[in-house]
Amino acid sequence: MTDDVVQELALLRDLGYTHLDLAGAKRVATSPAIATATATDTFAEGTSTEAEWAALRAETHNCDACRLAGTRTNVVFGVGSTTADLMFIGEAPGRDEDEQGEPFVGRAGQLLTDIIKAMKLTRDDVYIANVIKCRPPENRNPEPDEIEQCRPFIQRQVALVQPKVIVALGRVGLQALTGKSYAISSVRGQWLDFEGIRLMPTYHPAYLLRTPSAKKDVWNDMKKVMAELGIQF
Ligand code: SF4
Repeated sequence: MTDDVVQELALLRDLGYTHLDLAGAKRVATSPAIATATATDTFAEGTSTEAEWAALRAETHNCDACRLAGTRTNVVFGVGSTTADLMFIGEAPGRDEDEQGEPFVGRAGQLLTDIIKAMKLTRDDVYIANVIKCRPPENRNPEPDEIEQCRPFIQRQVALVQPKVIVALGRVGLQALTGKSYAISSVRGQWLDFEGIRLMPTYHPAYLLRTPSAKKDVWNDMKKVMAELGIQF
């Protein structure tokens, strides 16, 4: 057994997966659509344009529409394939993200990366962003007016990427994205709709660090996403 296989099995065990049905299983790296997605900030003719992304990125980096502009180190725009079939959307940057200018790079980010890997994908296959682009001080929840000011940026990112599936990570991110007061424990694992796109709410990786027993729930949710995208386990 190779080291990669050993690591993969250990990760699946850590996510709460207890059984592998190997009978007739066909393992593929990615769905055909995802497999064509390339590296960060690549542009596909007819889906999104470099000019639109550049304008949106510049607008976001120069934004001072809410008080969070005064305390940020970096604007955390988003990373990944601009033609991805799958978007992960979280709440707001934390300390590590604020320092590095990239979403999900701390301990919670590493766990998200592991989850993406368990889905037979890489961070370059998907697009990762937060609803709020600047870190709230002391990692407090974003205020309603901050969410309202920042929401158009994630809406425009979604419109440019045009993913088939969005995974909303955590209650605050889900509520900020949709503008609806969902309880994450009630809607987790159920398909919702966001502007005509399939939306799967699940727990935030930071919650999984505090509550490892919930990893199995998230893995079950990700299996639904894999099925929706045609990724065979
Ligand atoms: S959080 Fe959003 S709205 Fe507020 S300053 Fe940053 S980019 Fe602008």
